[in-house]
Amino acid sequence: MFFLFGFGTKRQHVGAGSARTCPRCHNHTQWGRVKEFKQFTLFFIPVARWNRKELEVCGICGAAVQL
Ligand SMILES: [Zn+2]
Repeated sequence: MFFLFGFGTKRQHVGAGSARTCPRCHNHTQWGRVKEFKQFTLFFIPVARWNRKELEVCGICGAAVQL
């Protein structure tokens, strides 16, 4: 029997975040809101997800802050 499984961190874009001044690139822009979670997949189907968190990500340099 052959099992195809994967493991990794996924990010899902959920919409627009708030306007922030980035601590890394110092631009004041609208950040994006993402959900991040760890997942385990079996035959490309997610079977377990954990460690969920919501982040906002700078659209310019990719810096992320946890909410
Ligand atoms: Zn930035």
